[in-house]
Amino acid sequence: MDRKFNLEDVLINYNNLLASGIKNARNVTRYLAGAGSICELDEVLSQRRAHDSGTILFLLDEFFDERWLASKVRVASSDIIINIDTSDEPTVQSIDALVAKIRAITTEIPAAIVGIGGGCTLDSAKAISNLLTNGGSAADYQGWDLLTKPGVFKIGVPTISGTGAEATRTCVLTNKRTGLKLGMNSDFTVFDQIVLDPNLMKSVPRDQFFYTGMDAYIHSFEALEGNYRNFIGDSFSQQAMQLCREVFLADDMMGSKECELLMSASYLGGCAIATSYVGLVHPLSAALSVNYGVHHCLANCIAMRAVEEFYPIQYAEFWMMVEKQGIFIPKGICIDAIENDFNQLRNSVLMHQKPLVNALGEKYEAILNSDKVFELFSMM
Ligand code: NAD
Ligand code: ZN
Repeated sequence: MDRKFNLEDVLINYNNLLASGIKNARNVTRYLAGAGSICELDEVLSQRRAHDSGTILFLLDEFFDERWLASKVRVASSDIIINIDTSDEPTVQSIDALVAKIRAITTEIPAAIVGIGGGCTLDSAKAISNLLTNGGSAADYQGWDLLTKPGVFKIGVPTISGTGAEATRTCVLTNKRTGLKLGMNSDFTVFDQIVLDPNLMKSVPRDQFFYTGMDAYIHSFEALEGNYRNFIGDSFSQQAMQLCREVFLADDMMGSKECELLMSASYLGGCAIATSYVGLVHPLSAALSVNYGVHHCLANCIAMRAVEEFYPIQYAEFWMMVEKQGIFIPKGICIDAIENDFNQLRNSVLMHQKPLVNALGEKYEAILNSDKVFELFSMM
C-alpha cells in the first residue's frame, strides 16, 4: 500500500494532541521522595553553595520556625530565613514587598531559594526566584511566557499536599488593585528540585488536610471531563483520582501510607494540569476567593455544593468522602448577597474563558446566564 507522508495531516493530529497550548511540557528537573527525605536537602544545598553568593534563601511557612529548620538542615550564618504569612494568599503586592525586603538584605543573587510549606509558600518561592533575576514587578509577568530569564535555582518542599504547586509551571498571584488572579505561567517557574517528604504533613489540621488534598481530586476530574485532552495528562489525572479515593475513603486519611499516597496524587495532579485545563469548579471557586476572600482549596469544596448537574458522579463521590472523614464545609456563604453581588460573581466566573470552554464548550456564557449563576451560588 502506498503510504504517502502528508505533513498537513501530521500537523493537524499533532495540534489536536496538546490543544492546551502547551506542546512541549516541562517537568520538575529532580525529585527526592520518601519519609525523612528532607534530611537529604542538606546534601543538595552543599552542592549549590558554590554558586553565586553562596547564600541560601529559605522561605518558611509560618507554622515552622528557625529551630525546626535547623533540626532538618544546616543553616549558615549568611543564609536568610523569611517566614511566609499564609493568612492571605500571595498577591503581586505581597511578592513585591518580599523582594524589596530581600534586596534590602542583599543585592547578590542567592545560590538557591528553598520554599518549605503549602501552595502559598511554594508559589512565593517561584515568584521571588523569577523576580530576582528578571527585575521589575510581579504584575509585569502575570500571563503566559513573559519571563525572559531563568530564575534563581529553586527547591520546593511541600508540607501539605493537593494543589500540585510543587509540579506546575505557574505561581498563582492576585493583583489587589485590578482583581486579576493570574500566575507567572512559564517554563522558568518550574522548580529545579523538589523534596517530597510525607512526614512533613503530619501536623496539618484535619480539615485543611482535606481541603488542600481535594484540589488534586477536583482538578483531575475537571481535566478528565473537559474538551482539551491529551493521553499523558489523562493518565496522570486518572492515577491522581485513584490515589485520592484511597486516601479519603480510608479510615485514617492522615496515616503514614495515606500521606505518601496524597503527596503522590498532588504531584501527578500538578503534572496533569500542566497540559490541560481545569473545568467549572475552579472558576466558581475563584469567584468566591476574589469576592469573599475564601482561600482557594476551601472555596473549591464550597463550590462543589453547586455542580451536581455538571459532574454527577464526582459530586456524589466527593460528598461521600466529606461524610466519611467528617469534614466541615461551610454553607450559606452568599446568603446576604443582593442582585449586584450576583452580577459581580458572574463577571468573576466568566473571565475564566479557557476552563469554561474546556468544561461547557464555546457557548458557556449562554449556559451560565444570570439565572443559572444565581441558582449555583445560592446552593453554596
Ligand atoms: P497554604 O499554603 O494556603 O497553607 C494552608 C494552611 O496550612 C496554612 O495555615 C499553613 O500555615 C498550614 N500548613 C502548611 N503546612 C503545614 C503543616 N505541615 N503543618 C501545619 N500546618 C501547615 O496551602 P495550600 O492549600 O497548599 O495552598 C493554597 C495556595 O496554593 C493558594 O494560594 C492557591 O492559589 C495556590 N495554588 C497554586 C497552584 C499552582 O499550580 N501553583 C495550584 C493550585 C493552588
Ligand atoms: Zn486548584
